[in-house]
Amino acid sequence: MELVEVKEGKARVLVPKAESIYNAPVFYNPRMALNRDVAVLLLNLLKPGKVLDALAATGIRGLRFALETPAKEVWLNDISEEAYALMRRNVALNFGEEPIVKGERAYLQADKLIVVNRGDANRLMAEKHRYFHFIDLDPFGSPMEFLDTALRAVKRKGILGVTATDAAPLCGAHPKACIRKYLAVPLRGELCHEVGTRILVGVIARYAAKYDLGIEVLLAYYKDHYFRAFIRLRDGAKKGDESLEQLGYVYFDERTGRFDVERGFLPTKPSAYGPVWLGPLKSEELVEEMMKLAEGMELAEKKRALKLLAILREELDVPLFYDTHALGRRLGIQPRKVGEIIERLRELGYNASRTHFSPTAVKTDAPFEEVVRAMAR
Ligand code: SAM
Repeated sequence: MELVEVKEGKARVLVPKAESIYNAPVFYNPRMALNRDVAVLLLNLLKPGKVLDALAATGIRGLRFALETPAKEVWLNDISEEAYALMRRNVALNFGEEPIVKGERAYLQADKLIVVNRGDANRLMAEKHRYFHFIDLDPFGSPMEFLDTALRAVKRKGILGVTATDAAPLCGAHPKACIRKYLAVPLRGELCHEVGTRILVGVIARYAAKYDLGIEVLLAYYKDHYFRAFIRLRDGAKKGDESLEQLGYVYFDERTGRFDVERGFLPTKPSAYGPVWLGPLKSEELVEEMMKLAEGMELAEKKRALKLLAILREELDVPLFYDTHALGRRLGIQPRKVGEIIERLRELGYNASRTHFSPTAVKTDAPFEEVVRAMAR
């Protein structure tokens, strides 16, 4: 395989030269640098000691954790032989020393321990029961085949970082696939990215609950066609019960664009979408700290990271939003500019903000009728 060297954050990695990232023998997507930046920021604040990049490909993510965060022990794992060989080369490139190979596992004790493993992520995670403080799942498509084992391999107060790139199921283009994988009915249309994010968080809460674990959403967002959730586990049956109380359903009227949400384990009406997570999608304090940290740090996509964090920081943390273009089309009105609508709603005493889910949308706690009034010219 022909290789080229790229630099991302503080890491240098050899990646396969390929016409398209999808036919490369080992996967590397430079567009995911922002996704990795955000994880690096978070790990700098939460300081997990033992970290697993369960689906590591070139190893870029785990290498960045090793080079740019205080993690003390970093595991890079991939099922592919070619990825295993390349990860070892990339470790050597960054730490100046070849890891010692013992069959399908290789070790390098630098200022921190780096372990490179070839194998099925589920097998490795089953072996390392309650071992890691942080596990990153960054698969092709859905993370669901790895979720259950990750919930056992992570410590009971540990953290999971989960990516889902299967936007078609989560956004409702393939509803049967969403039901199969996420055990939830998705919603098509302008709310699909937020509903998809909440379906992903909701299924993590449901999987965690059987281990008497609750969840705290540190940050969940949608960007560049992927969903991402950072979840801290909370230990205890009561925490599990509390998380399940944050689950519920969405009702959506196609004709008007009005939505409703209801909490509850079961829906009260047949037209429900979900179950979804209706609790917070961020820790405000953490996002604030990430922003401060990002300002003074070298990142691969610093400008974009700051832009994303700024909008996440301002975003009102309530379920769903009103997309002014979609609502305008539905109701036959010319909407005002988003900034103006937000101002008007605030003048009326409501909370209102932009949302990262859509540049033309407003998040607010105002009732539907008030939003429509504020929107109309
Ligand atoms: N995390 C990487 C990054 O940030 O560049 C990208 C990972 S890529 C999207 C998914 C990787 O998962 C591929 O390299 C693939 O070989 C690996 N993979 C697929 N199934 C696996 C399994 N069951 N166990 C371990 N690795 C697996």
